[in-house]
Amino acid sequence: MSCQFNFSAGPAVLPKEVLLQAQSELLDWNGTGMSVMEMSHRGKHYLSIFDETEANLRKLFDIPKNYKVLFLQGGAITHNFMVPMNLLNETSASYIASGYWSKRTFSDAKVFGDIKLGASSEAEDFLKAPCSQDWIFSDEDAYVHFCMNETIHGVEYFETPKIKPPLVCDMSSNILSRPMDIKNFGVIYAGAQKNIGPAGLTLVIVRDDLLENADKKTPTTLNWKIQSDNKSMINTPSTFGIYIAGLVFKWLLEQGGLKKIEEQNIKKASTLYEYIDSTSFYYNNVHKINRSRMNVSFRIKNDALTMKFVSEAEAEGLYQLKGHRLVGGLRASIYNAMPFEGIKALIEFMEKFKKNNV
Ligand SMILES: *Cc1c(COP(=O)(O)O)cnc(C)c1O
Repeated sequence: MSCQFNFSAGPAVLPKEVLLQAQSELLDWNGTGMSVMEMSHRGKHYLSIFDETEANLRKLFDIPKNYKVLFLQGGAITHNFMVPMNLLNETSASYIASGYWSKRTFSDAKVFGDIKLGASSEAEDFLKAPCSQDWIFSDEDAYVHFCMNETIHGVEYFETPKIKPPLVCDMSSNILSRPMDIKNFGVIYAGAQKNIGPAGLTLVIVRDDLLENADKKTPTTLNWKIQSDNKSMINTPSTFGIYIAGLVFKWLLEQGGLKKIEEQNIKKASTLYEYIDSTSFYYNNVHKINRSRMNVSFRIKNDALTMKFVSEAEAEGLYQLKGHRLVGGLRASIYNAMPFEGIKALIEFMEKFKKNNV
């Protein structure tokens, strides 16, 4: 049986059109006789790809001129230490824990200095995100860090508080899922493998006045300012990853941009949650205001049926529905590239499975 729909949390589904285009130009990009993988990152062909990729991202996400875009490596997790190295500057920062990833970010960052936990919903099993009115921080903090979408717990913020310290956001799993006002953020970073492209690329959007605070010991490859001054090429960037990201940005623009994508994402997620809520066989306990549009975690009342569900779904071409090993249960990741047909197919399967197992 072949994969009809891939619900992986990451690395995740990419638009078929993008993969087909990459396939068609894999051996010979644009008549150059070379694969993108074989090009010098400083040559004119590759630089044209790079510049177009950045320009399309700026257009798509409406990134103001005073924000730099960096194409780095190391994944989102590498930013657990890059953020304090680049911003802390012997001051303090506050961290919000709304799920596994932001809790881990806080514990990784702690060793760098005066890092405080500003709010946590762990006592509520991360079934909600701490309301931004309840965040505790100091106006003197160098920054406040939060994660906008917790990929494992399926918990998302839909508003961004306006606060004095710069907001630093791990947006790995919901970046480009809807329009955002970039001006509300100091720094946005995201591993590419959820909503952007292949693993190995990390996107950073940083307000330019924040580039002056790096600790002197920060290595050049990890220093935002040095990377920014060198077009993200202080060493070889993830050339092929950036190229695929560029194809995804173009694809999103062709879909009508992020407003359109948001409408589709709302429709996909609400259809799936409504179905789950309509049964007593499946359930989702996340607070309704924080239910993620990207990662729909759910469970079967009879937990013992979980693995049967996963293997029967796979036999029907519905792949990677198993929940994260830390929380168990099931999870459907429905990023931008998941078509509405995938949601319909999943619900049809869920209904059939329910009938066969009540
Ligand atoms: C996947 C994910 C990460 C980890 O990303 P890596 O690129 O593997 O380091 C961190 N934060 C969030 C929100 C994620 O979804």
